[in-house]
Amino acid sequence: MRFRDAEVPCRSCQGLYPASDLDRYLWCPDCRKAVRRRGARWGRGVGLAAVLGVAAYVLVRYYLVLDVRPSRQLLPLYFLMLAITYVLTSRIAVAVVQGLYRARGGVERPEAPDEAG
Ligand SMILES: [Zn+2]
Repeated sequence: MRFRDAEVPCRSCQGLYPASDLDRYLWCPDCRKAVRRRGARWGRGVGLAAVLGVAAYVLVRYYLVLDVRPSRQLLPLYFLMLAITYVLTSRIAVAVVQGLYRARGGVERPEAPDEAG
């Protein structure tokens, strides 16, 4: 019997799967899908929070504190900056959350991954 055909337990849910169905961390397709979904949800939340934070910071600092009025031609750059903020922070959050779940060895435990700090 070759290794690919052997039944191997998933490291997350302990279910038995053919070795060829598991990824390099020995996670089954369902657990991979679950960790991807959780990571995507955290990514959207963190990205949105970062965008709101940056937008609020820029508005408060430049419009209220410094009383600067940039030209309307710069408005697309402002939205480009917010879009880049969203993409970068959500990708970082996805990678961190997926790494935390992988390091913990499962997706089905009740603690939220970011409450540790
Ligand atoms: Zn599994």
